[in-house]
Amino acid sequence: MSKQTIKQLIARHGSKHEKDISRGVRMCEEVWDFEREGRKGFRCFCLEQYVPPGRDRKQLLARLDEFHHSLFGALGGALKVVRAGQDMADRPSLAAEEVLGGFAPRSHLQADYRRFHISGLIQLNFGTEETRAPRSRSGWAGRRLGRIGREMIPAELSQQYAEASSEVDRFISAYNLHLDRFRYPDSAVSFPRGTQLICHWGLRDYMMSLNGARNGLPRQRAILDLMRRVVDGDVPAEVLDDPEVEWDIPGQRIRCPGESWKPVRRQGALRWSKFHKVWQAQRSIDPHTRHGNLIDQKFEEEREISEQKVVGMLTEILASPLAERIGRYIGDEVERDLEPFDIYYRDFETDGLGREVLNYGVEKRYPTAEALNEAITDILVQLGWVEERARWIRSRIRVDNARSAGHAWPPQHDHDLQLLRVRVGRGGCDEINFETFMHELGHCVEGVLSRYEMDYKILWGVPSTAFSEAFAFTFQDRTDQILGRSESGAAAPMMLKRFWEAFEISGPALTEIRFLHWLYDNPEATARQMMRAIRRIGDSLWDEFYARVFGENGHGLMSVYSHILWGDFYLAEYPIGYIIGHQVRQYLRGRSLAQEMETMCAQGDIFPESWMRSVLGEPISVRPLLEDTALALDQLGY
Ligand SMILES: [Zn+2]
Repeated sequence: MSKQTIKQLIARHGSKHEKDISRGVRMCEEVWDFEREGRKGFRCFCLEQYVPPGRDRKQLLARLDEFHHSLFGALGGALKVVRAGQDMADRPSLAAEEVLGGFAPRSHLQADYRRFHISGLIQLNFGTEETRAPRSRSGWAGRRLGRIGREMIPAELSQQYAEASSEVDRFISAYNLHLDRFRYPDSAVSFPRGTQLICHWGLRDYMMSLNGARNGLPRQRAILDLMRRVVDGDVPAEVLDDPEVEWDIPGQRIRCPGESWKPVRRQGALRWSKFHKVWQAQRSIDPHTRHGNLIDQKFEEEREISEQKVVGMLTEILASPLAERIGRYIGDEVERDLEPFDIYYRDFETDGLGREVLNYGVEKRYPTAEALNEAITDILVQLGWVEERARWIRSRIRVDNARSAGHAWPPQHDHDLQLLRVRVGRGGCDEINFETFMHELGHCVEGVLSRYEMDYKILWGVPSTAFSEAFAFTFQDRTDQILGRSESGAAAPMMLKRFWEAFEISGPALTEIRFLHWLYDNPEATARQMMRAIRRIGDSLWDEFYARVFGENGHGLMSVYSHILWGDFYLAEYPIGYIIGHQVRQYLRGRSLAQEMETMCAQGDIFPESWMRSVLGEPISVRPLLEDTALALDQLGY
């Protein structure tokens, strides 16, 4: 049947287009609804809608670029409004937000594209199985457009997924532990009133802030033990997010207000029962995706870096003998043997001397989100942009006070703004949050430069989140410069920090990858089995890569990251971001950040390796990170 169609098309357009015609007809066949539209309908459609390569095809490309961008972008813009109540701190928190925030405006788009033949039109003219990099800008745009319409996830399945995932979201943001309400096995341990920490971010950061504090070590150990209890389900559900409930950990009992002590019931696999729902939703989506499973979908389709390459890079970092050398450096700084939580050690830049004290208040300088917004022009000028350009970039960014720690949300269409969310307390933006602001500003400047002026809208953005992280870290590095601290001369310790961040997160990322394989090997797994499996997988990874530096007991740290519960298989994005980030940083050394970033961002969303080669002239590689770390260790004498 399609042979007949191909023949007719060749007769009409000439045999020089034979290859392209059979490509188009084959790709269109895959997305055509034969039951509804019939074979004859298919033939007529192909005959009418096939456009041979050349000027006409380019016109069609421009038209579809405009068409898809306006629809997809408008729905993406709507999503910002949908989520506003949950994301922005300066709004009343209405109970209705739970309902509103769960709405998924894009869930019907794929089905509509099929129904109205948009998918057919795109696949007939731009669909391809080709994996080699295109050679022209229009080639890239056509390739990216060709990805649209191939998959069709039934709307009810994406809705189910959205519901499950927003339930996990709420669960994670309410996983607050009130450390001042607990009694610890070590009776010397206590925490100040109101110490409320979210798992795992809050626990981790607070634990690390105790380095060098009076009675710090016993408290760090107590928090480490809490993390282990989270992983193993040894926390009673009653204490979550409730400042009234007391928990006597060694006595294994709890007390609710107005009641007497009663024995503890552990929460068991509660975290994993939340994950279980998302996972079930994911499994029902799988058969409708191109690769049929989340692992290949993530690596081949989204990241476009093979699993083999990513696992190879993570392993190279984890197995590197540089870790032992940095371990010795940290040991000397903290004057004790390393403990498992030292994988989160970040105090490198102070080098034990403390940071230079500023002679003004950061909170006073940036009292509100608006003040931060205003400051962007000046910051960009300090980073090398000319004022007019800096002002234009600023005009595309809006800073909001965030409920969460901070995030950036790129513009979805020409009339939309780049959003920067950061926590601004009542007294203003403190130094820690200002560093987050700088990080998010890096995302935002990338978001602006890689979008509004792009030649094709389908190429908006960068190849993946990891690339955006590269710019975010580059900006974050300049925090001290912007705050007015003099060059600290701490370049070598900072380099150790870069490696240590990558070394720490590579473990959970690899744990997550192995855990996903286990999930596909055990499709009937219960929440309880999941909880045990990830602990087992994480422990074996600890033995393999971390025990040599921190000792044999890993306390489940590999599996504590809350990200895993979201089920979007995200963690590897961080180490890939650090790796690419370091390559970009190394390249920028001695060059102008402003100038280079403009050129880099103009590449748009092409293949990661093509981006790297065309911008930096080298493939994605761990080598620069390892080499620079070794150099820094030599300088420091470790
Ligand atoms: Zn980031």
